[in-house]
Amino acid sequence: MRELLRKNIANLTPYSCARNDFTGEAEVYLDANENWQDFVKKADANRYPDPLSVAVRKKVEEVLGLPFSKTVLGNGSDELIDNLLRCFCEPGKDSLLLMPPTYGAYKVFADINDVQVSSVPLTPDFQIDFPSLLDFLQREKENRSGEGRLKLLFICSPNNPSGNAFPLDEVRKVCELFDGITVVDEAYYDFSEKESAVGLLEDFPHLVVLRTFSKCWALASARVGIAVADEEMVSVFRSMKYPYNLGTPSQELALKALSNAGEVEKGLHLIKEERERLAAELKMLACVQTVFPSDANFFLVRVTDAMEIYNYLAGLGIIVRNRSKELHCGNCLRITVGNREENDRLLAALAAYKER
Ligand code: PMP
Repeated sequence: MRELLRKNIANLTPYSCARNDFTGEAEVYLDANENWQDFVKKADANRYPDPLSVAVRKKVEEVLGLPFSKTVLGNGSDELIDNLLRCFCEPGKDSLLLMPPTYGAYKVFADINDVQVSSVPLTPDFQIDFPSLLDFLQREKENRSGEGRLKLLFICSPNNPSGNAFPLDEVRKVCELFDGITVVDEAYYDFSEKESAVGLLEDFPHLVVLRTFSKCWALASARVGIAVADEEMVSVFRSMKYPYNLGTPSQELALKALSNAGEVEKGLHLIKEERERLAAELKMLACVQTVFPSDANFFLVRVTDAMEIYNYLAGLGIIVRNRSKELHCGNCLRITVGNREENDRLLAALAAYKER
């Protein structure tokens, strides 16, 4: 792992914040230039947050079974994706590999960091194209010079926008084939019946698994993401993240949600039930051609005319995502599974849609 890191990160002396220097309990804190007054009457809002989110990570271990020593939290998993790029990819030299169609932010963060993007597209039915992947990885390895190499490979499982998760043995196979860092983005993992890649960490120290509180845990506004990886790798992530990347209110919200895991479990069940109903009903509509199988809380749906139907729904105050421009997604809308009433409104609108 060390030799895959950017030199500046490998040699980094991390910023040492006040709360890194002193970790015990004290009565008078005059170490961090904070203001002793609390104008918003929110306990501790005047104090810097715990830089290592210890309480949340302990609870994450207890509730989600993700080992305390192997986690680092981010300001959403978006921050963790960006940090991965900044850790491993030398701007203007190194590259990462995507399997489109996939989550759009990977490429945007790569562009921002001046990291080249290579692609091995999924097959038209959104499966990993192993012959092409093998071929690509072999060629990349053969053509490596001193001037940069492929550092990261992103697998989004369940994949956004297609909705399908990849079987664990396929994720394992990618880890075996690739000699860089494999990142498995499990933002939608909770909605899937497929096994998590976390179980592969023992065998593959070059693997990073990402989770988020934004989806199943319904905390999108709190911005809490989790990276799970080998101890050595997470210690590097901890050293280069913004020292106080997660505010106390966000940490508290995550703790509250984790203490309420039973409710979250019930909520997950509701979404899965609605997902089944929505799929069955969508399939019966004249304007719907294909409802792609989903392991997530959304569907990719091929319709007769995506632009027209998108505008029609928007006119009725129903907003979905037009994904038609994504590879293999011609005339496709991405539709989030809403609550029963929202889904009924969507279905009624689509049933009333007459092609013009
Ligand atoms: N990964 C995937 C696949 C996503 O779809 C999203 C958000 N839509 C994210 C990561 C980012 O999530 P977060 O809110 O944790 O930054």
